[in-house]
Amino acid sequence: MKECEHFSSQIEHPSKSFECIHCKKEHLPVVALRLCLVCGHVGCCDSSIGQHATKHFKETGHAVMQAVPDKSWKWCYIHEDYF
Ligand SMILES: [Zn+2]
Ligand SMILES: [Zn+2]
Ligand SMILES: [Zn+2]
Repeated sequence: MKECEHFSSQIEHPSKSFECIHCKKEHLPVVALRLCLVCGHVGCCDSSIGQHATKHFKETGHAVMQAVPDKSWKWCYIHEDYF
């Protein structure tokens, strides 16, 4: 089993509806959403035009994301792997 120490902080997003506020502002289509497990920021995935989840990591260094709303997997940008 691989371990990732970056998942030490676990955030519970207060809302049940997720959206990428950046794409909403720019009226871009969103393929899927990623929740930042450090601060709760919601951004769109790399298949979306905006790629705001990856941009959020580059801007903030927040390395751990979770697929929302299904929460089926987590991604660490530093390990570049799923968990
Ligand atoms: Zn990691
Ligand atoms: Zn976006
Ligand atoms: Zn964040």
